[in-house]
Amino acid sequence: MKKSESLPSGMALRAVLLLERLSRLVRAGDHASGLAPAQWEALRYLARANRFSRTPAALADYLGATRGTVSQTLIALEDKELVRKTGSSRDRRSVELSLTSGGVALLEHDALKDLARDIDASGEADGLAQGLQAALHQALVRRGGRAFGVCRTCRHFRPGGRGDKAGKPHHCTLLDEPLSDADASLVCFEHT
Ligand code: SF4
Repeated sequence: MKKSESLPSGMALRAVLLLERLSRLVRAGDHASGLAPAQWEALRYLARANRFSRTPAALADYLGATRGTVSQTLIALEDKELVRKTGSSRDRRSVELSLTSGGVALLEHDALKDLARDIDASGEADGLAQGLQAALHQALVRRGGRAFGVCRTCRHFRPGGRGDKAGKPHHCTLLDEPLSDADASLVCFEHT
């Protein structure tokens, strides 16, 4: 029997059930705020995505949703003045998404922060994050999804100058674009 077909351990099943329950609690908090969970997920993504990745198509890939579903979510967020669409400076056929000041302010009260504080209080934040990252990687390999990793961990990332070359920005060799320190900490559609 292949490893992927072996029975999961009791502890792994317990972890999955706990994740499901925690997810439900977060979603209940999302609904209580007056936004649908999908709308919160879009806001969270836009707060973490770099400038190459704030598009409807990248958002749909990240969420594993259809373009039509994401389009409806974005219409609702635009109506609430939490997200704005502008023409893309890189591709005339595409649009760029950004958070409005209202969207940024709303994220200050994200229910996910309560859960993050609870995880901090457990004293297991590091191990939990590493374990979940590894599980996500396996799930994406199986399903063929994109990683959306953090820029500075990408094979195309070249760090900026140090010493006498200090001040030289980081660089993306795939897109041939300069990257700031802030860019290096954001997630990217093209991450490899
Ligand atoms: S280095 Fe990788 S993650 Fe960063 S912008 Fe380029 S492709 Fe995206």
